[in-house]
Amino acid sequence: DRIKSELKRELTRHSIERGKDQEIIQQNLKKSIEKLFKQTKYDLVTTIKNSKHKPYTVIFFGINGAGKTTSIAKVAAKLKQSHISCILVAADTWRSAAIAQLEQQGNKIGIKVIKHQYGSDPTAVAYDGVKYAEAHNIDAVLIDTAGRQHNNLNLVQQMEKIVRVIKPNLKIFVGESTTGNDCIEQAKKFDEVVGIDAIILSKADIDERGGAAISISYVIDKPIIYLGMGQKVDDLKEFKKEEIIQSLGL
Ligand code: GDP
Repeated sequence: DRIKSELKRELTRHSIERGKDQEIIQQNLKKSIEKLFKQTKYDLVTTIKNSKHKPYTVIFFGINGAGKTTSIAKVAAKLKQSHISCILVAADTWRSAAIAQLEQQGNKIGIKVIKHQYGSDPTAVAYDGVKYAEAHNIDAVLIDTAGRQHNNLNLVQQMEKIVRVIKPNLKIFVGESTTGNDCIEQAKKFDEVVGIDAIILSKADIDERGGAAISISYVIDKPIIYLGMGQKVDDLKEFKKEEIIQSLGL
């Protein structure tokens, strides 16, 4: 709707030379889409390197299966490559498999995982993670959380508590780009509860045209920092709006 109204305004503002209509429409369409993206570029590596906060805490939210654990491992591998030390925290104590899965990812990339038992208080695990990082001079803490359903009150309360106590430096929403409008609705709900700072869109290798990227960025008005481009730890790409616009043939 936003694209349509903007196009209409632009196209009715001046008269269009005969034969130039297609070119002008394309140019204006490109401009309208460009404007939908949050302008601020977010470079996580530089942000952590320049931050006064040590450890720099990043917490990841998103529903089960969205690619949260995989994305955390990808970000951790990227930080490691950039000589930023980090640990992972298994604060998804809701699903027994989640702790094991994060541990597996940590082992794969050679990064320590802080965990408690299944069913324990997620905030307590996150707190331990931060204390461990402080004691060991670690640069960053990446915290996994349970895949919340926004209508589950208990989980929502836990999510609010972890943010209130830990006061993370960055709250990332991980959404699956292939789910289109669902992904946008989820992002809105998470934003309402915890206040999202940035987005990682996973499975962008499946949704190559990037429709979800355009809508999500506009609707929740937060920068997309990375695109997940596959299942391997190095399948993480910095988000560039120019590439999305190009993939639309504009
Ligand atoms: P979580 O439940 O949110 O932690 O989701 P997982 O990280 O376990 O991911 C769910 C599934 O999606 C796994 O099979 C992952 O390998 C897969 N996956 C995650 N990210 C990507 C991606 O960027 N591209 C593709 N093709 N698959 C992905």
